[in-house]
Amino acid sequence: MRTVAIIQARMASSRLPGKALADIAGRAMVDRVLDRTGAAGSLDAIWLATSDQATDDGLAAHVEALGTPVFRGEEDDVLGRTASAARAAQADAIVRVTADCPMIDPSVIDRIVERFHRGDVDFASNTLTRTYPDGLDTEVFSRAALDRADAEVADPLLRLHVTPWISGVLGERCPNGGFTTANVCHGVDFSHLRWCVDDDDDLDFMRRAHAALPAEFGWLDVLALVTAAPALLRINRRHDMWEGVDRDRARLAGADRPQPCFQRSNMLLNRALKTIPLGSQTFSKSHQTYVRGAAPLFVERGHGCRVRDVDGNMFIDYVLGLLPVVLGYCDPDVDAAIQDQLERGITFSLPTELECDLAERLVGQVPCAEMARFGKNGSDATSAAIRLARAHTGRDRIAVCGYHGWHDWYIGTTSRDLGVPAAVKALTATFPYNDADSLAQLLATDSDGYAAVILEPHGLLGPEPGFLETVRALTERHGTVLIFDEIVSGFRIDPGGAQAAYGVTPDLATFGKALANGMPISAVVGRAALMRRMEEIFFSTTFGGEALSLAAAIATLDKMAASGLAACLARRGRGLIDGANAALARNGLAGLARFGGGSWWPILEITAPEAERNLLVSLLRQEFAANGLLIAASLNLCLAHDDDKVERETLEAMDRSFTAVRDALESPDPAGRLRGAPVKATFAVRGAQT
Ligand code: PMP
Repeated sequence: MRTVAIIQARMASSRLPGKALADIAGRAMVDRVLDRTGAAGSLDAIWLATSDQATDDGLAAHVEALGTPVFRGEEDDVLGRTASAARAAQADAIVRVTADCPMIDPSVIDRIVERFHRGDVDFASNTLTRTYPDGLDTEVFSRAALDRADAEVADPLLRLHVTPWISGVLGERCPNGGFTTANVCHGVDFSHLRWCVDDDDDLDFMRRAHAALPAEFGWLDVLALVTAAPALLRINRRHDMWEGVDRDRARLAGADRPQPCFQRSNMLLNRALKTIPLGSQTFSKSHQTYVRGAAPLFVERGHGCRVRDVDGNMFIDYVLGLLPVVLGYCDPDVDAAIQDQLERGITFSLPTELECDLAERLVGQVPCAEMARFGKNGSDATSAAIRLARAHTGRDRIAVCGYHGWHDWYIGTTSRDLGVPAAVKALTATFPYNDADSLAQLLATDSDGYAAVILEPHGLLGPEPGFLETVRALTERHGTVLIFDEIVSGFRIDPGGAQAAYGVTPDLATFGKALANGMPISAVVGRAALMRRMEEIFFSTTFGGEALSLAAAIATLDKMAASGLAACLARRGRGLIDGANAALARNGLAGLARFGGGSWWPILEITAPEAERNLLVSLLRQEFAANGLLIAASLNLCLAHDDDKVERETLEAMDRSFTAVRDALESPDPAGRLRGAPVKATFAVRGAQT
């Protein structure tokens, strides 16, 4: 039986063009792959397979000059190219290796070839259950299996990836052709390590690692190196292994796209509803927010601005956990800070220095902040600020505008007020945003006076000129504490919050959400004279000084400052608002919906008549999900969205979504186009952001 390694390589790479010939410590990457593969004792020959495009002429010539045979075939048909290369090489067993894995290991190749040659399987690899570092991927399969795949697989997406149909790795979405498979595991799980080259960070890691490694090394030497060097370990993290599939899906957008399947999401919901009321801890993350049956309901993992649901579908995420994820999922700097702290402890019996570090940072960057206290949820911070204002003024009444959390004093003003005592409800009044006259009236008509006015300085809407200034003047005149709820605006609009962006300084301000890139922490900050009263009221919780979140918050604030986050979000938001509105207009939907809001927080405004709104929202969310976008009522942005390619991909997916919505609305039965139950509004105040 002739065993041939076929190394796939091409120069075109959207993230790292020319990577096959990229220099790694004095040698081209492909040369390293050829050498290391060649060191495997179980191979009879090595071939390189590349595309027939002119961009790969130089690569083909380079490899041929080294004496390695090269097969060239159609660019997007990697399966066909591999099958043809196997025929040309007269291979009976094919060892599939890719040229972006310069640390591929001969001993691992030999181990998997040996497993395959036991003769009881069609496919053996170390990729079905991952335990080896990503970058030691080796797949071995029979020529018969490859030829059958070549003849029977029609889906262009599957033809880009050669083995999913044989290995069955896509599960029910792609039932394998009845092949038998075997997985080779390492005893310890090192699958979190990433030793392949897809982007600049990976190349940087490879260069640094090769500079420190001897000329001849095995994968355990690399393991020892990264374990001993935390800086190397930090950049050597695993990206999402499905990113490639997602990219290909976008590239083949014109081809027939399979409808995503949400079978596992639906099964999990049925399971969750048996033991968890609502099946979720948060209304806006629950099945009520998406079209049940036609959208993901459970997520499996996230990386950067993308998430993968439990069915394996990938989405560009514009919800981001309802805004906490401001840098991106698994941000390496924040995760490293959490890991460093994890080694020291999580919750202690005394405060830590981290509390001073975080308080000092907030005092340094938020105009009203002279002192700070921390909580876990945004509602902790707003409720503490309200109690503080009541204690300070000796008054009970509160004026609110917008959404401020789940506690009695606020939620009693919404339609979801069940369980809130009437006596508590009577103490909170509402006033419309941007309507300083109605606030003036409210404050003037109550003889006992108001303890606090709390509002989002910039939420779904931005302030009209003079509004915030008038609110400031009114509260000063009435001796009322002014609280800016910056739980959404905090750090996204400006490092100092909306109060810095608009030059109006409140007495107290609350932050949460984006403070720690997803870790649970919130803050009340404000004038020292007021904040000192925290010692008199009761604001005290077991987890108030939990150290992982403090460490994450410090790393997040540092990275937001270093990356110029607010400017990045504004630029990306502007591009998305303009592009999405153009797509709505192209599809004849401009009269029904538009993207507005601040460029740092684009809002999907539904302008359709009230009776049609819920169907339109449901159709939009359904089609967004079908096209790989997780979007609810706004475009929640993070640093990882700041990529032209992500913007392009998003706008193309939006265009397809709007076309599907238009077709549905023009059909005789628009509601019949819903593939599941329509979305349900939680309550009137802010639709789906809470
Ligand atoms: N204030 C505002 C402006 C919010 O958007 C939210 C949450 N969406 C809160 C307060 C309450 O925060 P949490 O849900 O973390 O308690």
